[in-house]
Order: sequence, then C-alpha cells, then structure tokens
Amino acid sequence: MRVRDLHVITEKWHFYCMNCLRSWERVFEAWHSDDGHGGAAVAWRLDGQASLPPWSDPICPTCLGLQVKALPGGSRDLIPPQR
Ligand SMILES: [Zn+2]
Repeated sequence: MRVRDLHVITEKWHFYCMNCLRSWERVFEAWHSDDGHGGAAVAWRLDGQASLPPWSDPICPTCLGLQVKALPGGSRDLIPPQR
C-alpha cells in the first residue's frame, strides 16, 4: 500500500519570443504527487530547482521581453537510469 504516490514526468516546452523572434526550449520536470486528501499537486522543477509552471510569465533570455509564447512539446515518463 502506497502512502504517497509520487510520479515525475519530464516535459519539453518550446518558447518563442514575439519581440526578438528568438526560440528556445527547456525541459521541465513535473512532480505529480498525491496530497493525501484525494487531491493531486504538481510541483515544477527546472535544472534541479523549484520553478513556476512553464506557462507562467516566461521571460526571454535575450531581450528580457515578456511577450513569450510557451508551447508544450510533449511529455514522457522519466525513465530511471539503467545499470
Ligand atoms: Zn526576446
């Protein structure tokens, strides 16, 4: 019996700056967990650090513009490293 169900999914997101036309992509980790009360919570991580969701106020690293479109690029289950 599982007390806590934790499931990590990696999601690649594409970003496109409407200001300087730069595009780039980042891989986020979505940590899905059961909060123990019948609900689910998702915590986002980027580069090993807690982060806001990918679609939440992305900023262009080149021009620091806020007119950035975030497009989900698919997801896959995180595969544990093989020995
Ligand atoms: Zn830009």
